[in-house]
Amino acid sequence: MKDLSKIRLFEAIDLIKKQKLKSEELVRYHLELANTKGKDLNAFITVLDDSIEKAREVDQKIQEGKKVGLLAGIPCTVKDILMTKGIRTTAASKILKDFIAPYSATVVEKLEEEGAVIIGKTNCDPFAYGASGENSGFGPTLNPIDNTRVPGGSSSGAAASLAAGIGLFAIGTDTGGSVRQPASLCGLVGLKVTYGRNSRYGLIAMASSFDTPGILSHTVREAAFIEEIIAGKDSKDATTYDLPVENYFKKLNEIKNLDKVKVGVPKQYFEQGITQDVKQAVQKTITKMKKNGAEIIDVSLPILKQGISVYYILVPSEISSNMARYDGIRFGRKEEDNYMQNLLKTRSKYLEPEVKRRIMLGTYALSAGYADEYYKHASRVRVKITREIMELFKEVDILVGPTSPFVAFKLGEKSNDPLAMYLADVYTVNANIAGCPAISINCGYNKEGLPIGFQIMSEKFSEAKLLGIAANTEKIINES
Ligand code: GLN
Repeated sequence: MKDLSKIRLFEAIDLIKKQKLKSEELVRYHLELANTKGKDLNAFITVLDDSIEKAREVDQKIQEGKKVGLLAGIPCTVKDILMTKGIRTTAASKILKDFIAPYSATVVEKLEEEGAVIIGKTNCDPFAYGASGENSGFGPTLNPIDNTRVPGGSSSGAAASLAAGIGLFAIGTDTGGSVRQPASLCGLVGLKVTYGRNSRYGLIAMASSFDTPGILSHTVREAAFIEEIIAGKDSKDATTYDLPVENYFKKLNEIKNLDKVKVGVPKQYFEQGITQDVKQAVQKTITKMKKNGAEIIDVSLPILKQGISVYYILVPSEISSNMARYDGIRFGRKEEDNYMQNLLKTRSKYLEPEVKRRIMLGTYALSAGYADEYYKHASRVRVKITREIMELFKEVDILVGPTSPFVAFKLGEKSNDPLAMYLADVYTVNANIAGCPAISINCGYNKEGLPIGFQIMSEKFSEAKLLGIAANTEKIINES
């Protein structure tokens, strides 16, 4: 009898195809875990018990010798902000509590075309606004490593479930760090690709010029494999690029070591706010990279410090516009017949406090008289940050640093202080501001056994290089 808890993605693919393991058996195991451990962690908004049928179909096809996809029979999870046809999709907000998605997101379709079995829709911060999972209209998610702590956010359920061994990979979304930061706080890999590489079609919009579907996995190799499946031009999303998707998985083997890789280390990353345990683990990793042939280059990019301010003006502005559709008529719940009364009541009653806060911030930043000072100014600084980062990539292959300034924090520790919470994103937002790809890998644990994330960022559409370097870095971290 195989120990199903030990089977990871590639082994599962192999065993299922060779008929040594039935997808039904594997999916049943993961569903059980989702319904027990997953519920205890509050990692799921909806567990899809019927997905067992899909697993049976895959087994049947394999038995009949029919062609199956690359992810045939593999259990995975999807953040509840991505539309799944015929299935409740809530964005973790009470306003969409009973909303059934009329179509599926492109990334979801692509996974299903390859035979993946979605076992559940994971909890998150409402509309993906948050860095801890605590803002969810369905209650906070707990970190499986220490239940008194947050798993990070906004893809809280994605990270918590995967770290608890539920599903073999998880799909999240990253607007300012929501895949990388929870991956960091739960000891996983989190990949956010170039803006426009993965389709946003069917992703309930947070900030449209930042949103990017992403992957949480146990290893870089797994992330590369999944990314190759979900990436690409989509006629339903005009912001996707018409560039061929590289063979990320195969290309991993082309980068054999870190020899001569130019690693930029921005000194601003280590100046303030970073905790000692994170700093030490990150610096140790940089030293290891150097020992393994990488060329470490100290760089200075003072403008990186403006990232948080720019992000928290532009993102709420886009949010305030995107949220206008929740008027109690088109989506969500109706409370009254009178249009204005209905609008006011629905939004007051069903939108979570953080959602309201962001609508107010954004409406203010866009309002006549303030738009020049806030929105337009921040847009100009966004261009400047992007240019300066691009300039830097002429000198270095990658920029490295911490993913989060601190390890997983206690539930409630920052929830009453939005500004302290916003600082959780200090290292992640610049990749979204510039549209660059970035990945978080685990680089160790602190004394309490809490994971620490290491972030690597590279220039736009250089995912193959980023993944290759990340895979090598992961290897040298694990070796010692
Ligand atoms: N923590 C960030 C925020 O609250 C990032 C959110 C995200 O990437 N979805 O905006």
